[in-house]
Amino acid sequence: MIKEIKGLHHVTSMAGDANQNNAFFTQILGLRRIKKTVNFDAPEVYHLYFGDEVGTPGSVMTTFPFGGMPNGRRGVGEVGVTEFAVPHGALDYWKDRLTAAGVTGLQESTAFGEKRLSFDGPHGDGFALVETDPRGRTHWTGADLPEDVGILGFRGARFALQKAGATAELLGFMGYQKADTEGDLTRFIIEGGNAADTIDLQELPGAKPASQGAGSVHHIAFAVEDRAAQLAVREQLLDTGYQVTPVIDRDYFWAIYFRIPGGVLFEIATNEPGFDRDEDTANLGQALKLPTRYEPLREKIEAQLPDIVDG
Ligand code: ZN
Repeated sequence: MIKEIKGLHHVTSMAGDANQNNAFFTQILGLRRIKKTVNFDAPEVYHLYFGDEVGTPGSVMTTFPFGGMPNGRRGVGEVGVTEFAVPHGALDYWKDRLTAAGVTGLQESTAFGEKRLSFDGPHGDGFALVETDPRGRTHWTGADLPEDVGILGFRGARFALQKAGATAELLGFMGYQKADTEGDLTRFIIEGGNAADTIDLQELPGAKPASQGAGSVHHIAFAVEDRAAQLAVREQLLDTGYQVTPVIDRDYFWAIYFRIPGGVLFEIATNEPGFDRDEDTANLGQALKLPTRYEPLREKIEAQLPDIVDG
């Protein structure tokens, strides 16, 4: 069994308009934009990173705003809900704030004893705020938010699957333990990891497959401490028969990818080197950072990208 995985590292979604996307995460959800760069495979598209003050692994929501991309359709075979942690007692505030901002799909519920507020992202993305213990985490204080309500990072994620069996088995292999079941949900928790330590599998046998588009999670990344741990995970996945990519340098972490039987694209990302490797903490996310190979094309790339106006 793999012992190196420490919970979530980041979640990456596809989006439409870059400014709408940026405003949603920074102005409505109060996250800090911690990196403004471009998609490694499509440098005419931004890759925006949002999180806590420094982009602690387990707090990082990233997006590819593809401009006019049509919305995806929610269904099975995808990460159905990306869940953010907020302090106990914060949901009443968030309900008012999200309502005032015109956010749709607001719904309060409880799962596994945790109060949650589900809501839609700008493209029908599935999000929820979940009240949990802070466990040493702090929110970004630069946003227009009162004390003690801000997002602390991820709580976890809820996968929507036709059948949960193969994914449950994989999560077990990855070091997650089955913790509880409630209705059509099964909760998995990783012990000794970061605070973004839950994955809930929702089995929806009659549902149609999801189709990817704006608002869909592109992939979900799990954290490992360093490159040595990542290589150990890669070996174990290969030995078990998963088709895993070579290690890819993503500038702020190293990544490997593999697709799971349920359809979701998994990434294993290192906690090193982090988002302050090319700009200091005070200025994270302000300047456009380009992967080294695109630096010679900076002028052309900047001309193609829409200006992001921070409100
Ligand atoms: Zn990623």
